[in-house]
Amino acid sequence: MSQQRMQGQPMIILGDDSQRMKDKDAQSHNISAARAVAESVRSTLGPKGMDKMLVDSLGDVTVTNDGVTILTEMDIDNPTAEMIVEVAEAQEDEAGDGTTTAVAIAGELLKNAEDLLEQDIHPTSIIRGFNMASKKAKDEIGEIATSVDPSDEEILKSVAETSMTGKGAELNKDVLVDLVVEAIQAVTIEAEDGSHVPDLEFLKLHTQTGRSVSESDLLTGGIIDKDAVHSDMPSTVDDANVLLLDTPIEVEETETDAQLNLDSPDQLQDFIEQEEERLKEMVQTIADSGANVVFCQKGIDDMAQHYLAKEGILAVRRVKKSDIEFVSEILGARIASDIDSVTSEDVASGSVRRDEDDEMFYVEGEDGHGATLLLRGSTNHVVDELERGINDALDVVASTVADGRVLAGGGATEVELAGRVRDYADSVSGREQLAVEAFADSLELVPRVLAENAGLDSIDTLVDLRAAHENGDEHAGLNVYSGDVVDTFEAGVVEPAHAKEQAVSSASEAANLVMKIDDIIAAGDLSTAGGEEEGAGGPGGAPGGMGGMGGGMGGMM
Ligand code: ADP
Ligand code: MG
Repeated sequence: MSQQRMQGQPMIILGDDSQRMKDKDAQSHNISAARAVAESVRSTLGPKGMDKMLVDSLGDVTVTNDGVTILTEMDIDNPTAEMIVEVAEAQEDEAGDGTTTAVAIAGELLKNAEDLLEQDIHPTSIIRGFNMASKKAKDEIGEIATSVDPSDEEILKSVAETSMTGKGAELNKDVLVDLVVEAIQAVTIEAEDGSHVPDLEFLKLHTQTGRSVSESDLLTGGIIDKDAVHSDMPSTVDDANVLLLDTPIEVEETETDAQLNLDSPDQLQDFIEQEEERLKEMVQTIADSGANVVFCQKGIDDMAQHYLAKEGILAVRRVKKSDIEFVSEILGARIASDIDSVTSEDVASGSVRRDEDDEMFYVEGEDGHGATLLLRGSTNHVVDELERGINDALDVVASTVADGRVLAGGGATEVELAGRVRDYADSVSGREQLAVEAFADSLELVPRVLAENAGLDSIDTLVDLRAAHENGDEHAGLNVYSGDVVDTFEAGVVEPAHAKEQAVSSASEAANLVMKIDDIIAAGDLSTAGGEEEGAGGPGGAPGGMGGMGGGMGGMM
């Protein structure tokens, strides 16, 4: 396909089986695809949300409640639907939590936009209105957020607990909430200007199966979950001088002749001796550096293992890259890539202790920098879902410590924002006003879905919530267990303000992106709707189908 301009008109030459959709057809096709994806995660929102079982093409099963995980595992083959997946990913990167919220709001914005398009309101007016409303909503978040002391453990625990509710982590939340808050505090530094900065680089989550969740623990330093390469090596080194290597202690083939023509047994003997000599030399260099512990990301030759043991050096091979990097972080050590140039400069001091029960090494630096949250659980499925929940909780607690602002959850913030955005709509003229109102309605999707997922009547709930907010009750939200309208802030259902700001802006950006497209030119057939998302539980009836444009988008103009 090529495009040339003739007298200001674009001329597009299409292949034989390519397809084209324009204006309203294009918009409604895209909106349907994007909405279908957004709607597929709605049923997981909130404490009473359900889980999804995802089965990949190899038959591997993931059971999760985590929005971004569902969307990324869904293997969506449609460029517009992928934009929605990107909302979830952006939310995950920026805030760590609130992915389902962001995606659900994006879907609702598109649904309401579709109604406006049907009333012949031009997409640019809708986009402009959404932008105005999104900005207003973010400003209002600043108004209604409550400032908290970043060292207020009660609030931090509430934030962690809110993000864990409804996840696998909930069952053991007492233990886990404490660990999450402790973990963030362990890596938070107070800057000179008095601000609190949690440094997540210094925190590592390590998972282990076989023990119960309640035996999870927070450890100072890092973990190397491997054995020593030789049984004669020391297992605990209190005064450790640690060398980190990302290169093997082996004789590489390129160092000897790759092809060897041997005429006599003597030559073979020579060759073996040469190789041994070379390995001895490497070990000697390591020993001369003063190292008594070596963590190596690559392999260690049998002969080298023997020499290292003779030198009394503890050596571990095939250590995970991320573990090497974390240990490098906490010891302040560099990672050496060339054994021949290793010196005492490459060695960092600390302690290395063996835990025989867990069969791993605990590594600590001298200044006690860095922490590892050791997350235990009975099986892989349990631990994996736990890990996703804990990651969210760590992010929201870190965000609260850094930003110091929280909001009432359970839909309270969304209803308050909707009311304020609706008031603001009165001051907006033109067709944008309708878009601003539609934006306000879309925010209320959150309490509606929270109610729906809890088996409550969503309309009644919304009516009650609105009434409470009109009475000036800014923190009136839904108690999903009793169905009552309560002060969710008082009840300890609190969320970081930053995550909500991000959810509002990424949702509106995604909706706008989808609406801006008025022309789809596909190299393949647009009408062969694939609908390959069965694994993730029926995306609510999408006309136009999904997956149809897979693989062959010619371009969008
Ligand atoms: P997300 O991926 O958007 O974080 P979640 O499934 O974690 O989705 O649900 C988050 C929503 O659940 C938020 O609106 C939050 O306020 C709400 N929520 C969490 N705990 C409670 C609770 N105990 N009562 C009412 N709402 C809650
Ligand atoms: Mg969440």
